[in-house]
Parts: sequence; C-alpha cells; structure tokens
Amino acid sequence: MIPKIEWPEGKRFAFTVFDDPDGDTVASRKWVYPFLADLGFRTSIAVWPIGPLRQRNSSGETCADKDYREHLLHMQDIGFEISYHNAAPHDCVRAEIIQSLDVFRDIFGAYPRSVANHYNADALYWGAARLHSPACRALYNLMTFGGKKSRFSGHVEGSPHFWGDLCRDRTQYFRNLVFREINTLKACPYQPYTSVDRPYVHEWFSASEGTDCRSFVKTISEVNQDRLEEEGGMSIMYTHLGKGFVTDGKLDPEFRRLMTRISKKNPWSAPVSPLMDHLKAKKGPFTISYDEITRLEWKWLAVKAFHGTS
Ligand SMILES: [Zn+2]
Repeated sequence: MIPKIEWPEGKRFAFTVFDDPDGDTVASRKWVYPFLADLGFRTSIAVWPIGPLRQRNSSGETCADKDYREHLLHMQDIGFEISYHNAAPHDCVRAEIIQSLDVFRDIFGAYPRSVANHYNADALYWGAARLHSPACRALYNLMTFGGKKSRFSGHVEGSPHFWGDLCRDRTQYFRNLVFREINTLKACPYQPYTSVDRPYVHEWFSASEGTDCRSFVKTISEVNQDRLEEEGGMSIMYTHLGKGFVTDGKLDPEFRRLMTRISKKNPWSAPVSPLMDHLKAKKGPFTISYDEITRLEWKWLAVKAFHGTS
C-alpha cells in the first residue's frame, strides 16, 4: 500500500535527483545544474571529498579541484544538498575515510547527511551484503557471477576498509535499492527505514532508475510523470549527470523537454535528506521486518534480472 503523504506548500507530489559523480565533467556544472536550478529543482549532489590518491576506478571530478569545490558551494548556497559517494574514486582505507569525512565537513560545514555507495572496497553493505535473505544473496551471486561477493567491507569490523562506526555516528540516510518505477514511494513505501540487521546505517532510502541519460528519460516519460502526479507520489531519481546528458555543449533535448514538462506540474523539490525528514515527520520512524525487506529484495532482484537496473 502506498502511503498518502501531504507535501509542503500544498504541492501534489515530490520530485528530486540523487546524482553520483562517476563520469562527471565540467559539462554537468556548466549546463545541467544551471538548468535544474532555473526550473526550481533542488537535488542531492554526491561527491568524492578527496583524491585521487592512486589509480582511479572511475572518472569524475573530486573536491580536490578548486573550481569544482566552488561550484558545489554555490549549489549548496542556493539549496542543493551535497552528499557522500565514499571517500575517493578508488578503494580507501580507514585513515583516508576519516580524512575524507573531515575534509567534507571543513568544506561544506557539516558531515554528509545522505550517502550512496561507490563500488569501492570501502562500500558498506554492498554487493551480496545489500541483501538480507541467504536465498536472495545466493541468487545475486549467481547473477553477478560471484564477482562482487566479498570485495566490499566498509561494514566489516577488522577490515582495513571498515568505517561502519563513522557512518553511524556522522551520517543519516543511505541509499540501497533502485527500482524502475518512477514513484519511489510506491516501489518502497517503508522509507526511510531502519533495519535491525544493519547497525551501521541509521535509515535507508530507495531510488528510481536513471543511471544515465537514456534510462533517466525513460523513467520520467510523459505517462510516468502523469501517473506520479496522480498518485501524489515521490520520485528520487538515481543518476550520473555526467553520463550522456550533454553533447557538444548542448543538453539532451528529450531530457530538457521532459524535465521542463515535469517542472510545470510544480512538484515539491527538495534534496533527499529534507525529503526523508519530511516523510519521517509524516509517517513516523519505521523499522522494517525481515519479511518486508525480503519481499522488497525479491522484487528488486526480479527487476534487476530482467532489466539490469542498479
Ligand atoms: Zn559511483
């Protein structure tokens, strides 16, 4: 059952974006963010606070770049949220993770409230550990050829990559499951939720698939956005705005058209943390049961198996 949420300012539904920095270039800074801001969207921008200190596993800007930092501070000033995408675009050990959280706090004035894993060894509850049920984990390992089984250990005490205690003490909301459904609240009505088996994360949120420009515009199609509005729902679009949204200095025309269209519906647009604060204020805190999380995980796995979602 989809919870009926009253949105602030009498708005009919909520819409936001959580952007991971993978593949990010100056293009999103120059073209995508001014466009989003002008349309009235206020979203979450996930960053790598430090690095690269060694061989990267992903391209994309980091807060070590002065111009990028200035851009982020400006976005924060006008109401965007800066979030955390692990310490750097490569595996990091605990001392580096501590440094990255301090650097984040020094630049942005506080520790990050919302977090999404990058595929580093220091990712937390990632790979098969995203899932609770042993059957789901076994299927996940089959689907991913077991390759991601034990690499991620941010939540494993004794691992050089462990930072679970810091995650618990310094952050609040953590992204896990991603669905094809535009209405993230319909796909996962529990959020933000606590899971008793995941002591290092306060509360989890889910997202809707939009990993690159092509999949983003598919999820926010006209039909889907009309339904989102009708249902009074909430959409958190998971994406990488560095992936295909700008070509030769021009925004993708379909992205421009569909985002302009949804902005005219006048949704409530706030970044992920205030959005989750609002949901929690309306619904109260929620601890998910084993059966509820397992049902959600099977649904996620089915969508992932057939559509390759994130
Ligand atoms: Zn990433």
